[in-house]
Amino acid sequence: MIGFPGLDEVWAALPEARIVGGAVRDALLGCEIADIDMASPLTPDRVMARARAAGLRAVPTGLDHGTVTVVAAGRGFEVTTLRRDVATDGRHALVEFTDDWREDAARRDFTINAMSMDQNGRIFDYFGGQADLEAGRVRFVGRAAARIREDYLRALRYFRFFARYGRGQPDEVALAAISANRAGVAGLSAERVWHELKLILQAPLPCTAVRLMAESGVLDVVWPEAVPARLEMLVKARAPAEALLRAAALGVGDVTAFAARLRLSGAEAARLRAYRAPNALKPGDEDAALRRALYGDPPEVLAARIWLADGAAPEWDELRARLVALPRPVFPLQGRDLLRLGLRPGPELGRVLRVVENWWQAGGCMAERSECLDKAKTVITA
Ligand code: ATP
Ligand code: MG
Repeated sequence: MIGFPGLDEVWAALPEARIVGGAVRDALLGCEIADIDMASPLTPDRVMARARAAGLRAVPTGLDHGTVTVVAAGRGFEVTTLRRDVATDGRHALVEFTDDWREDAARRDFTINAMSMDQNGRIFDYFGGQADLEAGRVRFVGRAAARIREDYLRALRYFRFFARYGRGQPDEVALAAISANRAGVAGLSAERVWHELKLILQAPLPCTAVRLMAESGVLDVVWPEAVPARLEMLVKARAPAEALLRAAALGVGDVTAFAARLRLSGAEAARLRAYRAPNALKPGDEDAALRRALYGDPPEVLAARIWLADGAAPEWDELRARLVALPRPVFPLQGRDLLRLGLRPGPELGRVLRVVENWWQAGGCMAERSECLDKAKTVITA
């Protein structure tokens, strides 16, 4: 049984609804569940009416595909009417409502994602998902090749779920089908590809999945610059399981071109660029050097550069620990302090501020505000 805030209220309003997809899988594994998706044989308007009659808020978030968000205990539960596919074109599906739970399960991608659970904790497992989950098998529901051609994103989703749940020998049928259909992956939108790649890279142990991507030729389609061995070194060194750090290790070539091709957000591209700047620190460095570096970049960026430069040896661990322990220095002067000293806004003010800032940095970012003001006075008269 899943204990989750608000869930009992949703079930009181919609007793025939079931939890579906990832939450069932993760509950069976005893993993923490971040959000709960549900399905119902009722049409969306009836789901809304029932939720509202029970005093719950119901928002028609995706009525065209049958989804209503029911809010209980401040949490949103997406309740989607059971569906079956009537037509697919490799990216989108035309769906029709049904009241058949098995049909709804059959359009889901993998057996481990196709289970549902009712309010009594009973599991409905139409395709052997539970056994696959226990064995670490990621297996398509139905014929792999056909399922991939319905929606090429599933080829990438395979690696996402393999990275997280796969163990032992991967399903050969799935891999052969993915490999044979890899050209279709090139037609997916960059946003969806990058979303999947990040999820693959975030998994605790992504290396086998990335190797399989390389062997199936999919990596070459989505990320030709990637070199799996570099990711393996980073993971072996126990660097944080952070997608952008792992992306930087795996290889992005020219960051600007990579970011544009995969449509990274501005913040992600900036982060990646910062990670890839050369590491200027070394284990024996004094605190002054570390503080100077921390003035320029946050500790996680400096640590990432160290991971990417060398990483594994214990002395580098110590250096990273020192970086995290030191507070980030803040330059104690601002333009208005110089206005108070009689300077006018303009280039001279900027010059003085920069000279004092450089002096402060050269001294290891230690000088107090009063010392910086004294220094400013000497620069102004100079
Ligand atoms: P995660 O923990 O990564 O969110 P999840 O299983 O919840 O895993 P979602 O991408 O959130 O994955 O999708 C929810 C469910 O919807 C899946 O478990 C699966 O049953 C179904 N699903 C999602 N995308 C597809 C797809 N492209 N093809 C078939 N079924 C899909
Ligand atoms: Mg999910």
